[in-house]
Amino acid sequence: MKGLLTRLSAMLRSGETSSYELTKKYIAEIEKSNPSLNAYVHLTFERALKDAETADKMLKNGVGGALTGIPYALKDNICTDGLLTTCCSRILCDFKPYYNAAVVEKLNSVGAVLLGKTNMDEFAMGSTSETSCYGAPLNPRNLSYVTGGSSGGSAAAVAANIAPYALGSDTGGSIRQPAAFCGVVGFKPTYGAVSRYGLIAYGSSLDQIGPITHTVSDAALVYDAIRGADVRDMTSAATDAAPTVLDPEVKGIKIALADEFFEGLDGEMKALIEGVVKKYEAYGAEVSSVSIPSLKTALPVYYIIACAEASSNLGRYDGIRYGFRAADYSDVDDMVVRTRTQGFGKEVQKRIMLGTYVLSSGYFDAYYKKACLLREKLKGEMDKVFEKFDLLIAPTAPVTAFKRGYSGGNAIETYHSDVCTVPVNIAGLPAISIPCGKTKTGLPVGMQIIGDRFADSAVLSAAYFCEAESVCGEEIYEGDVRL
Ligand code: GLN
Repeated sequence: MKGLLTRLSAMLRSGETSSYELTKKYIAEIEKSNPSLNAYVHLTFERALKDAETADKMLKNGVGGALTGIPYALKDNICTDGLLTTCCSRILCDFKPYYNAAVVEKLNSVGAVLLGKTNMDEFAMGSTSETSCYGAPLNPRNLSYVTGGSSGGSAAAVAANIAPYALGSDTGGSIRQPAAFCGVVGFKPTYGAVSRYGLIAYGSSLDQIGPITHTVSDAALVYDAIRGADVRDMTSAATDAAPTVLDPEVKGIKIALADEFFEGLDGEMKALIEGVVKKYEAYGAEVSSVSIPSLKTALPVYYIIACAEASSNLGRYDGIRYGFRAADYSDVDDMVVRTRTQGFGKEVQKRIMLGTYVLSSGYFDAYYKKACLLREKLKGEMDKVFEKFDLLIAPTAPVTAFKRGYSGGNAIETYHSDVCTVPVNIAGLPAISIPCGKTKTGLPVGMQIIGDRFADSAVLSAAYFCEAESVCGEEIYEGDVRL
């Protein structure tokens, strides 16, 4: 089964359509749907049409790659030269970077066409995209529900096919959870596989950029286009130079199911995931259940580490160097306080305070240091699993999409929705969320496939099995794709 991007690329290469025509088509769709969906917060149509003309020249000359001439959407925390990059925060409301993120450079170099920047939780902090200063995007599967977050705009844009693909960022699940809520594919590569140069930092030891797509083969194409070492990101690492080969053969692969991931999971969701696991077994995979006791500590460990790092990373927004500055103030200290109070939303302020608290002298040992030690423990337990097994299968989230506005009074439940995704970031592993069906209410359910560090192609291949064998959500993968 071919993905949308392969089909679009073939149409462009054969001359059946041009990048200019395709871009115009997507622009028309965006103009129609975006006013209600709120998936994009900044549109870059003029630039897109110019870039499409350049891409058409590349296509004519037979240069470029699989993504040449195909439009895409970018999360608004990824820097774009001369184009608004606001993290959906008032504090960066007029920020136009002077440089492109490494992933944008890479996509530019192959003639990809940027349609616009997508909505997100402010500074990527949230699980609903409702903390955006532009208001929340809506879930195209059911407009009464949120998209999930924080890359909610990217997931909504792909689910509504007002972007053939999008990039998101994932610190604790922000690619995978909105992909699950919107019924699309979301892939978080191994920590370090994709350069974060130009990604506005949230939790630097956890942040990773990755694709949100209609299909697994699309995710592999985008991953191949953006990965690789970069001297400007010390944590980036070289990945295999050859393109990812998607092998749907699962005979003999060893899959682990950790009991902790399934504890208390809703029966309907559990049944959908078990149905897919049975298919793996039927095709020759060996499935065993394991215990990873430290998964129970993952959520508090994540929130301590992520908030600690955020409190340090967000120290740079002071009204002096760039971004928003409060209009009235008495002296420099007052200016910084007023700028940060007016510029940051409530959730971001809460996390900066929590992060500052866990790092402060007297509390450092009790919280931050303890969290770092527990992080090593969880990593060690994960390493043990991958000594014996190729993959872990888990739910992406313990719930389906929340009703709009739900998170307002239910912060704890929304934090809890990250329980299955954060362990992956804590351990720096690759993981993909693929749709595995819908509940009776019609909401999509995501299944997560997790692999060992730098076993990204094994994760993608195992996910591709579901696509190739039409195991789950055929209608979700292709049915909604209008060309
Ligand atoms: N929901 C998590 C948080 O709010 C994850 C966010 C993310 O991955 N950026 O921290």
